[in-house]
Amino acid sequence: MGEERENDLKKTSPPPMGNQQPGNRGNNNTPPNRQGGPSFDRLILFFLIGLAITMLLNNFIGRAFQDAAVKQISYSEFMDRAKEGKVQAVNIDETEGKIYIYPSDKDTDRGMVQAYYTGIIYSDTTLTEKMEEYGVELNAEIPTRTSSIMDTLVSWVIVPLIIFWFLSFIMRKASSGMPGMGGMGAMGKSRAKEYVAEGPKVTFKDVAGQDEAKESLMEIVDYLNKPEKYKEVGAKLPKGALLVGPPGTGKTLLAKAVAGEAGVPFFSLAGSDFVEMFVGMGASRVRDLFKQAEAKAPCIIFIDEIDAIGKSRDNQLGSNDEREQTLNQLLTEMDGFDDSKAVVVLAATNRPEVLDKALRRPGRFDRTISVTQPDKQGRIDILKVHCKKVKLDESVDLDAIALATSGASGADLANIVNEAALRAVRMGRRLISQEDLFESVEVIIAGQQRKNHIMSREEREIVAFHEIGHALVAAKQKNTQPIQKITIIPRTSGALGYTMQMPTEERFLMKKSEMLEELVTYLGGRAAEEVQFGSITTGASNDIEKATDLARKMVTMYGMSDEFGMMGLEIPGSQYMDGRPVKTCADETMVKADEIVRRVLEEAYQKAVHILTENKAILEKSATFLLEKETITGQEFMDFINEP
Ligand code: ADP
Repeated sequence: MGEERENDLKKTSPPPMGNQQPGNRGNNNTPPNRQGGPSFDRLILFFLIGLAITMLLNNFIGRAFQDAAVKQISYSEFMDRAKEGKVQAVNIDETEGKIYIYPSDKDTDRGMVQAYYTGIIYSDTTLTEKMEEYGVELNAEIPTRTSSIMDTLVSWVIVPLIIFWFLSFIMRKASSGMPGMGGMGAMGKSRAKEYVAEGPKVTFKDVAGQDEAKESLMEIVDYLNKPEKYKEVGAKLPKGALLVGPPGTGKTLLAKAVAGEAGVPFFSLAGSDFVEMFVGMGASRVRDLFKQAEAKAPCIIFIDEIDAIGKSRDNQLGSNDEREQTLNQLLTEMDGFDDSKAVVVLAATNRPEVLDKALRRPGRFDRTISVTQPDKQGRIDILKVHCKKVKLDESVDLDAIALATSGASGADLANIVNEAALRAVRMGRRLISQEDLFESVEVIIAGQQRKNHIMSREEREIVAFHEIGHALVAAKQKNTQPIQKITIIPRTSGALGYTMQMPTEERFLMKKSEMLEELVTYLGGRAAEEVQFGSITTGASNDIEKATDLARKMVTMYGMSDEFGMMGLEIPGSQYMDGRPVKTCADETMVKADEIVRRVLEEAYQKAVHILTENKAILEKSATFLLEKETITGQEFMDFINEP
């Protein structure tokens, strides 16, 4: 369709020269630290952890000691001790009803005890005299054991230092790969999985359709196979290539195939694996990954979702230090690694527009390889690749499946074949039939059938008329696609029924007249409800959403309204994802555009009502038939239309 936009990736201007020297980057906080020892940030982190643990220990253990240091004794024992001169002072706490007794130096057998307590005996009125007699201070200040400098030193300096030393010892061991340090060991080390080409290795034969991408990658394969050939001439090959395309189009598969073709090791890691909660960890993972890769050269490093670390460093509210450090480290490594070692970094993203420009300057990811949604031939090829692994019967026609799956990615198609195989097994068959494949296309589009979803007769009737409304309007307008199937069996996606249209050929452009007819078809469901029952339901919400979206695009993006002519009012939000469109005009202009969209939709709706009113007899007959059968084929429906 008209979304075929010129690839503006190539137009990005090179970043300013000042930005290109490693070490010249203002915010490169990570000192080059190739030994993998703890960074300054980490040292501070450990010290703070040590201090926090010490505070906890002081608090808990101190309290435990305090509890152990106060011991209960009987009143008579208190008197005996006082008499023997073992008591220095007492404190009478009337609110608690306790007397606290502080031993004197004479009390040599007190051990850890700092004070005793006993209950107040109110009948003993001579307590005060007795205390004076024995030379015991009454209600004196509580003698506290003043903590010595040594104690303070031990609890606030030495203990944190020991904990700090212990933590950095563990980290050092961990990053040098101490056996048995599994959990912690994984922290600073790169988690790159080495993809070992065992069993059937992935080659370009397994990647169907992406011929342009394969061609660009062929050179890299050749370089990895015979680096000397390039060195002889003095040619330098790109160190990195960026695979750009929508999700599921085979970017990872292509990277694996490059490794498979060249017969070299393949290290793969996702961008998000680098960014962890520990500061400095991402950068150290990058270092480790490159160290591992250099040791295995020639090889391939594959970084999936590179946008997780490679997002532009400017234009952001609030920076993310950890991500920036990781990105800086990646740039430094790419600049720094030995040219003579054939290490190629491939990275994948579906949001190239957010990537930092520094990533794409020459010497880094300077090649951009577009991996696109497959066209019809591409889909046939992908289906063929995946069908090789399963058994098909002679009814299978992959052309028809490819035609019905316009817009599906390679991953969707792989999924469809697998679903069909599962269905064949469920049905007790050994071969996959065309019906299995079609059914699984529907499962991928609309979800599983919900056979036990019980609807009232009235609701089923409304759904039947609604679906026939779409089909009849589509069939009566000469330019719309023939109908494949109409069903009123609810699906797990929430659809209560649907009409499947079948394109006869792959389309890349759409005419304005066809788009207008498409709008009428979308609104045919709601129109049928009104024509038949005189009332409307919530069932049309999805149709309304799609119709509005299409009408809006016609007005704001495709220049198809008389009022705005060639003026574009919106641009697509993201090239490869379903981002919201971005407005490029004034708010008042948008208000006018909304009014035009409303008018276009209203006209389409009136046209649908008109078609259905004129063909009410066919509408009623075919809807009744659908209600009875639940699913009818396009041919059965066309028979009603062609009836004399
Ligand atoms: P991406 O990395 O672009 O998101 P993947 O490479 O992970 O997509 O693709 C997922 C799966 O989809 C692959 O493992 C493969 O089975 C299937 N697939 C995608 N594209 C193709 C293709 N062009 N040819 C064959 N299979 C494909």
